[in-house]
Amino acid sequence: MQSEESFSYARVHHYPNLLRRWRKISRAAGLKMSKIVSSDGLPVYEVRSPALTQTNGIYLSAGIHGDEAAGVEGLARWAEVNLRQLSSLPLIFFPCLNPWGLIHNSRNSQSGDDLNRSWGGSGNLLTSTVQNRIRGMSFQLSLNLHEDYEGNGVYLYELTRGRAHPSLGEIILKSAAKIIVPDSRELIDGRKAKDGIIRPRPRNILPDEMPEALFLFKQHADQSYTLETPSEFDFQGRADAQFRMIHTALKKQWSN
Ligand SMILES: [Zn+2]
Repeated sequence: MQSEESFSYARVHHYPNLLRRWRKISRAAGLKMSKIVSSDGLPVYEVRSPALTQTNGIYLSAGIHGDEAAGVEGLARWAEVNLRQLSSLPLIFFPCLNPWGLIHNSRNSQSGDDLNRSWGGSGNLLTSTVQNRIRGMSFQLSLNLHEDYEGNGVYLYELTRGRAHPSLGEIILKSAAKIIVPDSRELIDGRKAKDGIIRPRPRNILPDEMPEALFLFKQHADQSYTLETPSEFDFQGRADAQFRMIHTALKKQWSN
């Protein structure tokens, strides 16, 4: 008998199914879904809302690490149940930036590149295509959805200019805590963390290690968040936590 988890696994790593869902979302909400590049032989898509302009947009991406599927699922689910907001908010989505990795449950691309370390002018086709697509745009907020197999709860990287109290990061984690509590580690991936929040100092990053979130913060966005769920936890809970965090981050933006 197939368990709930293996059913989810097959469904969630099925890229054509994910694209069908996004086509349906796009039709229902009047979004523009475009193929932007072929990566490892698979089409990568961008989805834009009609309200998106050059300034003040909201950037959302998932699946740059293909084995971190709850972000991909959480984003699709969020879009499916918020069709009305999709047409009124200024959104640009990259629903799955590493489809080969999603299908093969691989962090990296087929050639072994970590696509989330390829944003510093590495000449990588995928990241340079996304960079061209958003050239000249500024975002009020960017969200990059990730997972961590070492995580013991949800956590996030918060890159902001100026700081509100409570910070958006604190509000995001609080909203997910009913589903998954914040990660309790004081050191996450070599960085200091407090109550599930890492506020990295961007200075010491080498160009050949540049992650998407930092590239966005440096060039395009005043608030850049990397949201992380613990990938050893139950899949449905992780997808729900991603959903809840996306919802909270965006709700705060559209109620401003
Ligand atoms: Zn990741």
